[in-house]
Amino acid sequence: MRAMTYRGPYKVRVEEKPEPTIEHPNDAIVRVTRAAICGSDLHLYHGLMPDTRIGHTFGHEIIGVVEEVGPSVQNLSPGDRVMVPFNIYCGSCFFCSRGLYSNCHNVNPNATAAGGIYGYSHTTGGYDGGQAEFVRVPFADVGPSVIPDWLDDDDALMLTDAFSTGYFGAQLGDISEGDTVVVFGAGPVGLAAARSAWFMGAGRVIVIDHLDYRLEKARTFAFAETLALSEHKDIVVAVKKATEYLGADVVIDAVGAEADGSVVQHVTGAKLKLLGGSPVALNWAIDSARKGGTVSVLGAYGPIHTAVKFGDVVNKGLTLRSNQAPVKRQWPRLLEHIQAGHVRPGELLSHRIPLEYIAEGYHLFSAKLDDCIKPTILM
Ligand code: NAD
Ligand code: ZN
Repeated sequence: MRAMTYRGPYKVRVEEKPEPTIEHPNDAIVRVTRAAICGSDLHLYHGLMPDTRIGHTFGHEIIGVVEEVGPSVQNLSPGDRVMVPFNIYCGSCFFCSRGLYSNCHNVNPNATAAGGIYGYSHTTGGYDGGQAEFVRVPFADVGPSVIPDWLDDDDALMLTDAFSTGYFGAQLGDISEGDTVVVFGAGPVGLAAARSAWFMGAGRVIVIDHLDYRLEKARTFAFAETLALSEHKDIVVAVKKATEYLGADVVIDAVGAEADGSVVQHVTGAKLKLLGGSPVALNWAIDSARKGGTVSVLGAYGPIHTAVKFGDVVNKGLTLRSNQAPVKRQWPRLLEHIQAGHVRPGELLSHRIPLEYIAEGYHLFSAKLDDCIKPTILM
């Protein structure tokens, strides 16, 4: 089959790979119809995540058609049109039974924190991803869901991660009626968080980024006020001014490791290689929150970071909440919102790119060219 493969930082290409096969009785093989590129894939593409191996196929935002199921799979049949959550999880361990699907104990022997993720390096289990013609789906009765007939492919694809993740970030903020919510990052995840904040009763939503075309999308898609980094020497002061010098009730970090391009530390085996820097957006988020406020961290970081302003978290009495989103938990509520016509998550997909041209897709999304919000890969 044809599959995207990683060749080193800023290098990906399409190669011929063996088709995946059923390895466990509860596996399914899904023929991918569409995949998306995520801001998280950019951390891999930039070489910022540890143990990203040459030849690994990325892609954790996947919809497709079930091709084959293992003998113990009950809930899926060949021919079903399915959306696959980005998390791989068993559904029955200590963590899964508490809804912590992204922290499943049984799918990732290499890590102490994250569970399994498709195509997201060996730190999350080394599973090949779905930017390919086929993908192996472990625990097929647990993760994937049959896509309702009325749900459009683009909207379904956005539920596999980005939109559900933004919604989850707003949930983590524990927004009360009338709260002011500030979102750092106007990528697909930040835009989804900003739009979702209204569902939870936000009184004001303010989105911050340095890319004007994305701030424009924040105004039109997420009905948000915007603050452009280029226009404010000190963004924290700008947030304070906008909030009667109290700070925001809830702040969401939808930026992560890329904030200044140098914030990740590589962990390779026992060796620790510091790439330096501090998590800029996260510290701005901490500084922008009012005393007693909540900071919801969606941005992805490598396993170890320095220079988080933790003293301020304590002294301001902040609640800091975070996780890889357990996206299937968000689906029932989001499906209701989509069916009721409240939102079309697929509007965040700006480019359609055939698999053969995926290298161009990565470049476009990484360099933020051609007003790219998020590319879809067509198989
Ligand atoms: P993206 O790269 O499209 O968007 C990031 C945005 O942040 C860009 O528009 C960029 O201009 C902006 N930005 C950079 N530095 C900034 C700063 N200091 N202040 C404000 N804005 C800044 O990525 P995305 O797909 O929207 O993903 C955003 C983050 O969410 C990534 O770190 C990604 O890994 C993470 N993520 C987490 C989960 C989860 O489950 N927790 C799931 C998906 C994505
Ligand atoms: Zn993602």
